[in-house]
Amino acid sequence: MYKALLIEKDAAGYRASVRDLDEDNLPEGDVTVRVAYSTLNYKDALAITGKSPVVRKFPLVAGIDFAGTVEASQHPSWKPGELVILNGWGVGETHSGGLAQRARVRGDWLVALPAPLSTRQAMAIGTAGYTAMLCVMALEGHGLRPASGDILVTGANGGVGGVAIALLSKLGYRVVASTGRPHEAEALKQLGAAEVIARDELSAPGKPLARERWAGVVDSVGSHTLANACAGTKYRGAVAACGLAQGMDFPGTVAPFILRGVTLYGVDSVMAPKALREQAWARLARDLDLAKLDRLVREIPLGQAIDAAGEILAGRVRGRLVVDVNA
Ligand code: NDP
Repeated sequence: MYKALLIEKDAAGYRASVRDLDEDNLPEGDVTVRVAYSTLNYKDALAITGKSPVVRKFPLVAGIDFAGTVEASQHPSWKPGELVILNGWGVGETHSGGLAQRARVRGDWLVALPAPLSTRQAMAIGTAGYTAMLCVMALEGHGLRPASGDILVTGANGGVGGVAIALLSKLGYRVVASTGRPHEAEALKQLGAAEVIARDELSAPGKPLARERWAGVVDSVGSHTLANACAGTKYRGAVAACGLAQGMDFPGTVAPFILRGVTLYGVDSVMAPKALREQAWARLARDLDLAKLDRLVREIPLGQAIDAAGEILAGRVRGRLVVDVNA
């Protein structure tokens, strides 16, 4: 038997509960993992509350990521005892996921835990932090360097935002953090932000072009914030868009693209190719200040994950929620 956060939808409605399941509930896959930690990402909160149709097969164990130890493997790349990370691939959406003491997945989906990260640190990073790294890599791939100018990070107190700030500042960039929680400004500065601006400078409808302020942007917010971020990006700068915390819409114009040569990079973590994931995790192991990561984390037991999902959607969680599935 193993504990799992199960999502069900039937005549009685949509519901989430922590349950004891037996082996027969493990889905198809060639690697079985004893999960050490999972996390609560924004998407997990949508899945647990049913606010958006993230889960598309029922019943299903929630959790889009996990870190743990291989227990059994029919896959040539993995042996029992090895430490692994999983992000995405539809896990927690169409394939039972990581908010459980055990998970079974395809070996092709797994990434080896890179030293010196522990399973807990890997999940402190989680899908949010790995996505932040993909955004940073997109900006670097565009040719941005610390001398290029300021980098705007939106949704600064969120998981993507927090890890992006810590990463970019360690890499030498001057980071401007945008937040709706100005009382957290000091914490954002300790994380590495050089300047903190109010969310509402960017979240209302704006002009097609604004003063050129940003060499690059990591945006996890979408909607008017993304449109304004593009409008304020410098000539030939770049914007990495990965999220929709404000909204899925993109109410902008083509002006930044055709008049300033701004590039908008879409960042998806779910189906990202394996080589890119391995590169991102290797970079996280090298470029993230683990003491700063620690400051972003709150740990909860599996039994608190359902309540915490509501807190995430209410915008009351700062940083990352790590779930100890064995507590
Ligand atoms: P969090 O809930 O941790 O953070 C979201 C942050 O966005 C909040 O902390 C808040 O920051 C800000 N925010 C919330 N509501 C609003 C609003 N109405 N207007 C403006 N800002 C708002 O989520 P994550 O960091 O885990 O994820 C952020 C986004 O990125 C989500 O939309 C998520 O789905 C997406 N995502 C996408 C991935 C991909 O593969 N493309 C992977 C991972 C995440 P503050 O309080 O500082 O303003």
